[in-house]
Amino acid sequence: MLHIQNIDKSFDSLQVIQGLSFEVQDGEFVAIIGPSGSGKSTLFQLIGGVTSLDEGAILLDGEAIQQQRGVIGYMPQQPCLLPWRTILDNVILVEELRHKPNMELAKEWLDKVGLSAFQQAYPHELSGGMQQRVSFIRAIVSNKPILCLDEPFSALDEFTRLEMQAWLVSTWETYRKSVLFVTHSIEEALFLADRVIVLTKRPATVKAEIEVPFARPRTEDIRHSATFTA
Ligand code: ADP
Ligand code: MG
Repeated sequence: MLHIQNIDKSFDSLQVIQGLSFEVQDGEFVAIIGPSGSGKSTLFQLIGGVTSLDEGAILLDGEAIQQQRGVIGYMPQQPCLLPWRTILDNVILVEELRHKPNMELAKEWLDKVGLSAFQQAYPHELSGGMQQRVSFIRAIVSNKPILCLDEPFSALDEFTRLEMQAWLVSTWETYRKSVLFVTHSIEEALFLADRVIVLTKRPATVKAEIEVPFARPRTEDIRHSATFTA
């Protein structure tokens, strides 16, 4: 279980997060929504371990997350691809830091998201939406128990977004990872998540937690309604 425990975060005099607490059960699929600038990306940076807490704790199974390496598959809001590495080498980047990367899996995912022709291309040759898909599958291929995706589909057209939502749901159905994602779309939050956490305006704290009362659409239904083109 992931336990966000009364956390605070400021940048100089700007308090971004104040007394924020919530829990995520193993295998849960949770959406985080809130006004722009409320601190959602900062929250994910804290969970992803790329910035440090002022107060409180982030615990995974009772142990501070900073003490546990490689437990979060973090997709930042900006794709953050390394410009001097090929697309394939960007997909395996996180895995490569820990052990021998699974190249076949990386290639399989590039194919699934329609980018197999771009394996040896460089990030500047791809559109923003394509880069976002590379960043998305990098988080999936890193194969961590928790996925934290910051507005994963914001740069995609409607059809591609449906396709990527379907891949996320099928990954979740297969591996039962915990998935947390930020979205500015209430519709997307209700479409994908079991539970929606609503944050207040900055400084962010939890305003409401909503159990989504309807069944998630079947993956195949989503995929059948989408026509994918790279
Ligand atoms: P959201 O993702 O909800 O739109 P962010 O977490 O990106 O919000 O930002 C929350 C606030 O914190 C914003 O006012 C932003 O300008 C500020 N902020 C974020 N990161 C930094 C930083 N590294 N230094 C200073 N201010 C920051
Ligand atoms: Mg953000």
